[in-house]
Amino acid sequence: MQNIKEYVALKKEEIKREIENNKYEIQTVVIQVGDNPASNAYIKGKLADCDAVGIKCNLLKYEEDITEDYLLNVIKELNERKCITGFIVQLPLPKHINEQKVIEAINYKKDIDGFTKQALVNPATPQGIIDYLEYNNFDFVDKNAIVIGRSNIVGRPMARLLLDRSCNVMVTHSKTSSVNLHNALIDADLVVVATGHRNTLSNYDVQGRVKSTCFLVDVGINRNENNKLCGDCEHITCIEKTPVPGGVGLLTRLALITNILKLYKINNKLN
Ligand code: NAP
Repeated sequence: MQNIKEYVALKKEEIKREIENNKYEIQTVVIQVGDNPASNAYIKGKLADCDAVGIKCNLLKYEEDITEDYLLNVIKELNERKCITGFIVQLPLPKHINEQKVIEAINYKKDIDGFTKQALVNPATPQGIIDYLEYNNFDFVDKNAIVIGRSNIVGRPMARLLLDRSCNVMVTHSKTSSVNLHNALIDADLVVVATGHRNTLSNYDVQGRVKSTCFLVDVGINRNENNKLCGDCEHITCIEKTPVPGGVGLLTRLALITNILKLYKINNKLN
């Protein structure tokens, strides 16, 4: 598999050239409520990525205590503003605001994150993983994939995108027994781990059980005992896997700008 940093740099350059050559004028917005440190870091990355490829991106940052109605009005206004290609509501939102209600208020044509029911693009993390696998000519048809985790933003859409490509997909979760997981691992060609728990899989689960050609995608972002970022499978050394940091996080960021460009082209009938 191609080095992820190199792959992302290459693709970003392609996107930048496409926007420049066609003089696309793309404007986006990130809405943030409160001052969550993790959200601050993610948003900083999104703004930098947009800037690097020539997409305008404004941050609308609101106090933690704004009301749900106020936020819904901001969304309504952005839905109506013609010059805005799309926007993101950074999650998590404060507890007094209903996230599902907010997501469903976004016009699906402007939903960069792909979280609304009729979204025109897919959630960035699974889409970024699929794009990377496709770039590396991963042959999906009749391959056995295990997705560990069933969240709405990673596990479930990941399983759907793999199924769309005719993979045989098994989804596991916190109630899956280790016996069932171990049995499934024997035939796995691809394992995507997205639990947010360190050592969800270790060499013990994998070594001597999984095919040496099996590829592991480690989606998790955790902190280890030295406060360093690590994935859900940090100690696995016996099969090829994506690194953390410098792996799925970069693929997700790339997929987000790819989603913006896709929406711009769809909404301006450029395809
Ligand atoms: P989530 O909403 O908390 O879902 C976690 C899923 O993992 C749940 O379905 C849960 O099962 C399952 N699970 C938990 N412990 C498990 C275990 N020991 N064995 C098997 N399944 C287990 O998390 P998420 O939003 O999907 O995110 C997962 C991880 O990916 C987090 O670390 C997050 O930070 C990271 N992430 C990274 C990126 C990136 O760009 N790199 C993007 C998104 C997310 P139940 O349903 O049974 O509870």
